[in-house]
Amino acid sequence: MENKKVLMQKYEFGNLLGQGNFGKVYYAKSVKTKQSVAIKVMEKEKVRKVGMIDQTKTEISSMSLVKHPNILELYEVLANKNKIYFIMEYADGGELFNEVAKGKLREDMARRYFQQLISAVDFCHSRGVYHRDLKPENLLLDENGTLKVSDFGLSALGVSKYQDGLLHTTCGTPAYVAPEVINQKGYDGAKADIWSCGVILFVLLAGYLPFRDSNLVEMYKKISTADYKFPSWFSPDVTKLLSKILNPNPRSRISIAKMKTNPWFKKGLKSNSLQKTSEQDSPRADPPVVFGPEANPAALEIKNQTDDLPKLNAFDIISLSSGLDLSGLFTETKEKKEVQFTSVHSASAITSKLKDIAQQLKFKIKTEAGGLLKIEKSNKGRKAALAIDMEIFEITPSLYLVQVKKSSGDSLEYEKMLQEEIRPALKDIVLSWQ
Ligand code: AMP
Repeated sequence: MENKKVLMQKYEFGNLLGQGNFGKVYYAKSVKTKQSVAIKVMEKEKVRKVGMIDQTKTEISSMSLVKHPNILELYEVLANKNKIYFIMEYADGGELFNEVAKGKLREDMARRYFQQLISAVDFCHSRGVYHRDLKPENLLLDENGTLKVSDFGLSALGVSKYQDGLLHTTCGTPAYVAPEVINQKGYDGAKADIWSCGVILFVLLAGYLPFRDSNLVEMYKKISTADYKFPSWFSPDVTKLLSKILNPNPRSRISIAKMKTNPWFKKGLKSNSLQKTSEQDSPRADPPVVFGPEANPAALEIKNQTDDLPKLNAFDIISLSSGLDLSGLFTETKEKKEVQFTSVHSASAITSKLKDIAQQLKFKIKTEAGGLLKIEKSNKGRKAALAIDMEIFEITPSLYLVQVKKSSGDSLEYEKMLQEEIRPALKDIVLSWQ
């Protein structure tokens, strides 16, 4: 039991505050100073299993890179043989998400949170740290209602952090992700964060997401084309600003520097207050890392590795977002014999590849319409003809999802053909199989 335990004679554990992507978070008190803290406990084994050792080191190093009034502070890191403990600033006011869940916020409240969010994000960007996973769940409030951005430690993680299905455990939706991130085009972390801030501002003011659809493909389309509507209660000034933030083209999307001169954004801000928060902070050393008796210090060597990150692609989102209802993605009920893959080739290239394979395997094309290819192989024996449906879905203009499924015929024959002939023949166009 973690409760009521004293950690290394330093922190007395209290209640469970929440379950995050990387482990449980507990309330605790410093034995010496009685200061309230939050402790995130990670099982080393779990971290190792999902290949997150490096990411954890990154979490430590990027959390320690940033010290700002609107960023949750990391005080120290403790470790013993089995666990890693992150001792963090305690945010008493819970998640900002809870406020939004009660209903939309007043414009001045939303603006205040947004200004604090931008201040934190601007500060991090100026130090080369990008969050990449900004959403209301990562925004906590302290006892004074001041916004604290959490999980900045995850900022430097690329797609690998999704290997454990982490996306679905957070909010189950890619609704905050910028179109260029979904499109898998090389992207600018700063502009991608600004997009997410725009989605957050929209949610604060509207009480709901700008891009919503039970069908993921439709949702991606809406994100890619910035297809959303402002509710009637949004003021003209905020709609003007949001249109500049939710611009699907990252190059012409507004920068933070420009945003700081925007009249709606500036309202109520003391002049230069954004500037000051960054400048006032003194550079900070890495937090102390303390090891328990059996810990191996080398296991926590801190290394900054924000470069060369693998990019998140839409298939990762789809395949890992199991919290989402994917049923709307497909028109027919999912059968066991259905497989899917993604491809970055054009729809016509995929279609011609599928037709080539059909021809090689002596199938006849029965239907070809709107991305659907129905092929059939007449069977001279007693068995029903083997028929396969292949359907291409556009996720974004540069990413397609292809579904391959037996519609009739012998399952064994189909399975053998799929594994031994169809899959190998598709290898040139497949980005990833589900
Ligand atoms: P995380 O692993 O950071 O996503 O945290 C999981 C949950 O624990 C959050 O959604 C919060 O409800 C809670 N939590 C995390 N960090 C803190 C903190 N520093 N202070 C208070 N609650 C926290």
